[in-house]
Amino acid sequence: MSSNFVPVRLEKIVKNYGIFTVLKEVSIDIRAGEFVSILGPSGSGKTTMLQLIGGFSRPTSGRVWFGDSDVTLLPPQRRDIGVVFQNYALFPHLSVAENIAFPLRARKVPSSQIAAQVEKALATVELPGYGERPIAKLSGGQRQRVALARAIVFEPRLILMDEPLSALDKNLRETMQLELRSLHAKLGATVVYVTHDQREALTLSDRVAVMNAGRILQVDTPRTLYSAPADAFVAGFVGESSLLPVARTGTNSARLGDTVLRSARPLPADGELYIALQAEALLPCAADETESDCNYLSGQVRDVVFQGESLKVKVVLADGTEISFRVPSHHSNNIALPQAGQNVRLKLHVEDTVIVPSSNAA
Ligand code: ADP
Ligand code: MG
Repeated sequence: MSSNFVPVRLEKIVKNYGIFTVLKEVSIDIRAGEFVSILGPSGSGKTTMLQLIGGFSRPTSGRVWFGDSDVTLLPPQRRDIGVVFQNYALFPHLSVAENIAFPLRARKVPSSQIAAQVEKALATVELPGYGERPIAKLSGGQRQRVALARAIVFEPRLILMDEPLSALDKNLRETMQLELRSLHAKLGATVVYVTHDQREALTLSDRVAVMNAGRILQVDTPRTLYSAPADAFVAGFVGESSLLPVARTGTNSARLGDTVLRSARPLPADGELYIALQAEALLPCAADETESDCNYLSGQVRDVVFQGESLKVKVVLADGTEISFRVPSHHSNNIALPQAGQNVRLKLHVEDTVIVPSSNAA
C-alpha cells in the first residue's frame, strides 16, 4: 500500500459550541506512521478532536496541518482519510464486497480494478473470500473487520477510529486489539484512535494523549504515562492507583501518614502533592525485610476480592487510609495468600514511587 502517510498537527485548537468551550487550545504533533490514542473520560472532547482532524467539523480557532498543508478548511472527502466509527454503519442490504467497494466507487476507481482491491483489503483483515456474504450473516467481530477493510481499501494516508471496538464483548475486543496492532504494523499508516479504555490505549498505541475537560494533559508512550504521569488526573486514569495526599519532606521524599517515602525522581517543585500507589507495584514482604531501594508500608488487610487471575487486597494503614494491592490468585507464586484481619507489610520500589502534582491544568 502507499507509503506517503502524513504527520498530523493540531495547533492551538479551540472549539466552542455556543458559550461552551469543548476544546481549550489543544495542540499535538502526530508523526507519520504513528499510532496515537486519544484517551479520556466520556465528554472530555475526544470525538470532537477526531472530527476536527477528519474535517467533519471546523475549529473556532487554531489550525489543522497534514504535513506542510493547512487542511483546516478542507472538507473530509478531500482529506484522503479512512474512518471507522463506533456504530460502524455498514450498508446492511449490500454484500461484504459491495460495502468495501463503496469508497472506491465514490472515488471513481475503474470497475476493472475494484474486485482486486476489495479482495486485497479482505485479505488484510483476514476475511479472504468473504466478499459475497450478506452483512446480516456476519458476527460482530467480522462486521468490525469489514468496516476496517472499507476504511483501508482506498489506501488512505490517515486512519481515524472512534471507539470502534466498544460494542464488542471482552474476548472479541482483545482479539481485535491484537489484530489492529498487526494491521497497523502491516500498513504503516498514521492512526488516530479514540478510546475511553486505558488498557486498550496502552495495548495499541505508540503514544497516548490523555484528555480531560477539553485539554490534553500528557502525550507520551504507554510506559512513560504509567511510570511518570504528569499529574493526579493522569495517574488516576492510567493504571489502578490509590491517590493519596503526601507532604514534601525533601527533593525526593514525601510523607504519607507517618511513613516517609523516597522516589527515584525529584518531586514536582511546588503545590499539593499526591502519591499514586499502583496496586500492582505493591508487594507483600517479610516483617524484617529492608532493601535500600524500597519503601515499606504496614497495615491490616480489610478485604480480599477474588478477581479471576488475581486477588485485590484492601489494606488499611495505621492512620486509617485505605490502599489496595494485587497478588496472583494461583498458589504457586510462593506467597501465602492474604486473609482479612491479618497484618501485612508491603514494599514499594523507589522507581515505582510516583509522586505527582494535583493538576497541571490551568
Ligand atoms: P467524548 O468523545 O470525549 O465523549 P465529545 O467530543 O463527544 O466527548 O464531547 C465533548 C463535549 O462537547 C461534551 O460535553 C458534549 O456534550 C459537547 N458536544 C459535542 N458535540 C456537540 C454539539 N454538536 N453541540 C453542543 N455540544 C456538543
Ligand atoms: Mg466520543
